[in-house]
Amino acid sequence: TAAPASNFIRNLIDEDNRGGKWGGRVETRFPPEPNGYLHYGHAKSICLNFGLAQSYGGACHLRFDDTNPEKEEQEYVDSIIEAVHWLGFDWGEHLYFASDYFDRMYACAEYLITSGHAYVESLSAEEMRAYRGTLTEAGRESPYRSRSVEENLDLFRRMRAGEFADGQHILRAKVNMASPNLNLRDPAIYRIRRATHHRTGDAWCIYPMYTFAHPIEDAIEGITHSLCTLEFEDQRPFYDWLLDALATGGFFPRPLPQQIEFARLNLTYVVLSKRKLIQLVDEHHVDGWDDPRLPTLVGARRRGFTAAGFRLFAERIGVTKSDTWIDLSVLEECMREDLNLAAERRVAVLDPLRLVITNYPPGHSEQCEAPNHPLKPELGKRPMPFSGELWIEREDFMETPAKGFHRLYPGNMARLRYGYVVRCTGCEKDADGNVTAVLCEYLPDTKSGTPGADSVKVKGNLHWVSVAHAYEAQVRLYDRLFAHPYPGNRREGDPEDFERSYIDDLNDTSKLTIHARLEPALANARPEDHFQFERHGYFVADRIDSTAGAPVFNRTVTLKDSWSK
Ligand code: ATP
Ligand code: MG
Ligand code: MG
Repeated sequence: TAAPASNFIRNLIDEDNRGGKWGGRVETRFPPEPNGYLHYGHAKSICLNFGLAQSYGGACHLRFDDTNPEKEEQEYVDSIIEAVHWLGFDWGEHLYFASDYFDRMYACAEYLITSGHAYVESLSAEEMRAYRGTLTEAGRESPYRSRSVEENLDLFRRMRAGEFADGQHILRAKVNMASPNLNLRDPAIYRIRRATHHRTGDAWCIYPMYTFAHPIEDAIEGITHSLCTLEFEDQRPFYDWLLDALATGGFFPRPLPQQIEFARLNLTYVVLSKRKLIQLVDEHHVDGWDDPRLPTLVGARRRGFTAAGFRLFAERIGVTKSDTWIDLSVLEECMREDLNLAAERRVAVLDPLRLVITNYPPGHSEQCEAPNHPLKPELGKRPMPFSGELWIEREDFMETPAKGFHRLYPGNMARLRYGYVVRCTGCEKDADGNVTAVLCEYLPDTKSGTPGADSVKVKGNLHWVSVAHAYEAQVRLYDRLFAHPYPGNRREGDPEDFERSYIDDLNDTSKLTIHARLEPALANARPEDHFQFERHGYFVADRIDSTAGAPVFNRTVTLKDSWSK
């Protein structure tokens, strides 16, 4: 594989290495909060953090940022571990839980109090908001800001001991109420919250705030470069202020970890916010968290998207400092590129129409051979039974051909791929005039792979499966979940469209379940085997609904992009 492209983060790391800042050490982390399933956006962050560590010979930590007891659950921890492994990354011994640092975080908070860097606030949340000011108006200092160290320490210890109600007091960093950066106007760093934590149970009734906890987590673990998305840019000054204060107090050695922001992934036709994903699941717009249409990684895996495809995508889109939209077709194309090499070819008839070869010996069948992969002859060939009754795609026959149609119509010849050339002689219809069978004669000398194969030149080349041998299975044809590139965004030039929600932009035909006729070899597919169904696209044997000997298939992506204009 090619060397990773340079980007502003790699440039910063190279600069650090040239200056000897970390003695060549590169340590990153992926810090999910275990409050939901990972999505495509997290895949970008995982590939970035683990990829950087890999290419610099460093380490990437998997850290559960579990400082928010209400929404966090073991189920999410397990699914995140599985998803990161699935993407092909390993954290070695570097698996951490922020909740394991609660004692140390508490000690940091007491130190901030004793060194005059923090105080207990007793204003209500509403009053605090009013005192904080706005972007254009400086904040005012709370009357509680001048509490003595002894009083602050006593109150904070009693907060911890459970003497106060939730919300009655809060611990704030003492920074600068006049700062133009709202995040520096004495941010809250500890709150009282009586909630059972998924790991620490009821040991604590106070919990650290994200802005306080995250820099400490990074410093405890010796992270060198702490990558986060652009929304956190305004929090960097506090990150630095806090770690500087704690390093001065001897809690951490210098140099201190550096926060670096990059643009989050925005994808057209996709929503990536947890709140919206929860609504889609709760309101049953999809069939659960692992619905192949959802942009979760569990959904992607069921869809047949591959880890290598995600890694290729992350490399291709790179990292930048400005928010942009990536077209979903870029991700789909990465999956096609990976699957084109990875997936063996098979034959499937999705919309079956019977084809009868009137001059083929009745009751007879024979083997044809089809290559498993046109680019990898070493994968060999497989037998495909051929007989006098075959399934073909309904769209491969037209009684009255349209201009440029080279497949089957009365009088025309076409090749049954890996089989024979046939000449169409007519069709059968039901009382309503629907075509029920296509009638053909085959040319016995034209079998593929024999010397006579090329003796007759034809333009059409169709796929087929033998009726007597076909494996009939459920196939789900998945398409984009949303029909609009920016779900929920008001349409340009439509003044009536104020109320539009992303729910209004759901694609009605994002899932179609059909019963297809597949070549018999597909009955042996194991869950998560990927295939290209010739002429149709890439499919995967569903990892949940398949049973031994009876796989069902999900369409991962069509062969070509049918969405771009
Ligand atoms: P969401 O905003 O969807 O609720 P989150 O940011 O709250 O996600 P976390 O579990 O806190 O989810 O995220 C873990 C890591 O993944 C963070 O470092 C975050 O920056 C990164 N991340 C989350 N969403 C994206 C995205 N769309 N693009 C890139 N990185 C992301
Ligand atoms: Mg978060
Ligand atoms: Mg978020």
